[in-house]
Order: sequence, then C-alpha cells, then structure tokens
Amino acid sequence: MTKLNMIYEGKAKQLYTTEDDTKLIIHYKDDATAFNGVKKASIEHKGELNNAITTLIFKQLIQAGIPTHYIETLNERDQLCHKVDIIPLEVIVRNIIAGSMAKRLAILEGTVAPRPIYELCYKNDDLGDPLINEDHALALNVVREDELAEIKRLTLRINEELKKLFDTINIKLVDFKLEFGKLPDGTIVLADEISPDTCRLWDKDTNQKLDKDRFRRDLGQVEDAYQEILKRLKEHYA
Ligand code: UDP
Repeated sequence: MTKLNMIYEGKAKQLYTTEDDTKLIIHYKDDATAFNGVKKASIEHKGELNNAITTLIFKQLIQAGIPTHYIETLNERDQLCHKVDIIPLEVIVRNIIAGSMAKRLAILEGTVAPRPIYELCYKNDDLGDPLINEDHALALNVVREDELAEIKRLTLRINEELKKLFDTINIKLVDFKLEFGKLPDGTIVLADEISPDTCRLWDKDTNQKLDKDRFRRDLGQVEDAYQEILKRLKEHYA
C-alpha cells in the first residue's frame, strides 16, 4: 500500500489516501506543539518513536478485544488504518491528578483520584478544546447517546488494560487522551495514537516524567524519555 494524496495535516501527523478508499496511511512527524499550538518545536525521532509505541500499545489492546482503526505498521513512520469518521471529542481519563485539572481545581499534582475521572473536551481549535459534559456533546450534535455510552464503556476498559500494561513496565499511568471514530457500518473504534504525546507517564520508583510534559515544561531530555518508554515496552511486549 502506498501514499497517494495528503488529505490532512495535523500537529504531529499527516493523513494520506491509498489505492483502497476504505484505508488511510497515517504518517508520524517529529513536530510537537503545546498550549494549543503556541509552543512549537521538532523533537528528533519523535515520529518514529510514537509510531513504534502506538503500534505496540494498539496490538495489546486489540489482543484484549478492543476495536481499533489499526491494521498494520508499514515502516518507521507509517501506519495503515481503516478510514473512520473521527468524532470531534477528546476523551480524557485521569487516574492521578495533573495538568489542567490540577490547575483548574487547585488540587496538588500527584493526588490519586478516588476512581478514574472521565472527561470530554470538544475538539475545536478556535474554542481551545473546551471541557464539556455528555449533555453538551449531544447538544453539539457530534455524537448520539448510544455512541456516548459505547465510548465511555470502551474508554474505561482501555484504562484498565493500559494501567496493567504500564504497571508491568514500572510506569504509573497518570492520565491520557483518546479519540474515537466510526467505521462505515457505524461501529465505534479507537483511533488516533497512544503515546507519550497523549499520556502522562511517571516512573513508579522515582516519579520521573517520561512524557510530553518534559517538552511543555522545558524539563529537557524529551527524546530520551520517549526512548525509555519504547525500550521498556519492547522488553515486555515486542
Ligand atoms: N492531551 C492530549 N492532547 C490534548 C490535550 C490533552 O493528548 O490536546 C492529553 C495530555 O497529554 C494528558 C491528558 O490528555 O495526558 C490530560 O491533559 P490535560 O487536560 O491535563 O491538559 P494539558 O495539561 O495537557 O493541557
């Protein structure tokens, strides 16, 4: 399968059509942005690292019975996926309070949540991806009630699988963001990526941050952190 036309370019990835109009190629770039595009940089090898990390994680989720858009990894930067209609929601789960929630509610970063916290944001750059609830999502007319229920059910299952997976490699899964899409037959599937760009990952022993917060907060050694996550995943799951 080869890349034909680029149909979308996002902050970290490009999407290409293929000879099969039900399949797309996702190309992972080195570009990184934070704070709604205000901070920009290129992180060496990030595209390759996130492609490899997402591949290993999606394969584990598929084995656990989670429906996804993933088909196969074609090379160091490209993945073949089913074409889906992306639902414009960012679905966030928090196991430990950090980032925007710590700030918004003045809760100490690192506080363990009494149960997984489920959040939705409306994917809309002009509005700055605002936090919304399920009623807002229905009012926006971007998703149906039964689809919302399926998204929540899948998300909480994915959280359980990811917590186990990261625990095995001595990492605390602090929080993460998912995106879902719809196949032509209406099936809701996990889409996008799961990587240190979209998760907060802390070493269990040292609490060292091994994710995009190293870039957001100018902590240095961003590439090393992503390399470390891939190395540990490969040791257990390759
Ligand atoms: N996240 C993401 N993309 C976004 C916003 C958030 O992947 O556009 C991830 C982020 O990496 C973190 C989780 O979602 O793992 C929760 O992010 P938060 O709401 O704390 O926002 P942030 O502090 O990243 O702005």
